[in-house]
Amino acid sequence: QQQEKSALLKAHEFAAKLYNYILGNTDQGKVALEYLRSRGVSDKLIETFQIGYAPAMWDTLVKQLEKRGFDLALMEKGGLISARSEGDGYLDKFRERIIFPICDASGKVIGFGGRAMGDAQPKYLNSPETVLFNKSRTLYNMHLAKPNVRKLQKTVIFEGYMDVIKAWEAGVLNGVATMGTALTKEHAGLLNRNSEQIVLCYDGDSAGQSAAFKSIPLLEEAGCRVNVAMLPDGRDPDDYVSNFGFERFVREIVEPAVPSMKYKLLYIRKNFKMHEDGDRVRYLQTAIKSIAGLASPIEREHYLKQLSSEFPESSFEALKQDLSEHLLQS
Ligand code: ATP
Ligand code: MN
Ligand code: MN
Ligand code: MN
Repeated sequence: QQQEKSALLKAHEFAAKLYNYILGNTDQGKVALEYLRSRGVSDKLIETFQIGYAPAMWDTLVKQLEKRGFDLALMEKGGLISARSEGDGYLDKFRERIIFPICDASGKVIGFGGRAMGDAQPKYLNSPETVLFNKSRTLYNMHLAKPNVRKLQKTVIFEGYMDVIKAWEAGVLNGVATMGTALTKEHAGLLNRNSEQIVLCYDGDSAGQSAAFKSIPLLEEAGCRVNVAMLPDGRDPDDYVSNFGFERFVREIVEPAVPSMKYKLLYIRKNFKMHEDGDRVRYLQTAIKSIAGLASPIEREHYLKQLSSEFPESSFEALKQDLSEHLLQS
């Protein structure tokens, strides 16, 4: 198995170089290069992230791998190519897609994300789970972010490739991405080893916001302190940068990220009609239950005071009593 792994690592490294070469140096790559430029990806970023292009032909990579003596059955098992459904032989897995190489923490290519340029489905095709690539343990860009994470003692987590790349251009050099899958306990453990402080910077749609809400307890249980950056509805970090620029992205989105408790209160609130008495009371009860989960009495008091000034109809004493009942229960 060690031999298989090392052959697959070589093949991934080769494929990444091939796709990157095709993007930058061939006629086939021109449309892809145009596409990336239209999305604000510079040549420098293409170089840094080793972005590539897999052409439309059926067997670009298959032929090159074969020529270099790679075992094609193994390459299929490694997710680089697919067996033809009829007859013998193999086809490229990634075709007519922008290629984002996915590296392990030491910078070795272990998989790919491939984005369709038009409306082809699926929008992203990612490498399957293989002996090299384990999604629940891999974070996109960890190898480049790591030294900056260690220096700043902070990691920023995004949903997608383009978010990491555009944020990098904006000077956010400590960004990684979960590549669309839910953050796992394993991710949280890995993140905590590098930095205690985490900033979640997920898409501003309901899927992104609910993913952020669910990631908070995982990260906190692993020992992280979490802040959450909030994008306006319908925007993600990549298109915020494209529309409003690097400077505004950092100043208006990343820097003002709020502590997880504040974010949770804002998130819970969306389920209640705050102009109705019954809902106001139930929101307060839900909010207090959440505050009761904070380990520090100082923190609990901080948020309780905020609630009481926001809800003048409820006395601080009453809120405190409600809180103490939750504390007794746990
Ligand atoms: P783009 O800006 O290129 O449209 P995005 O990153 O904004 O991409 P999202 O739809 O927000 O795309 O998805 C976030 C991430 O989830 C992607 O970067 C990708 O890693 C993953 N993803 C999205 N769609 C799919 C899919 N159909 N299959 C697998 N992974 C996907
Ligand atoms: Mn999304
Ligand atoms: Mn997005
Ligand atoms: Mn996007």
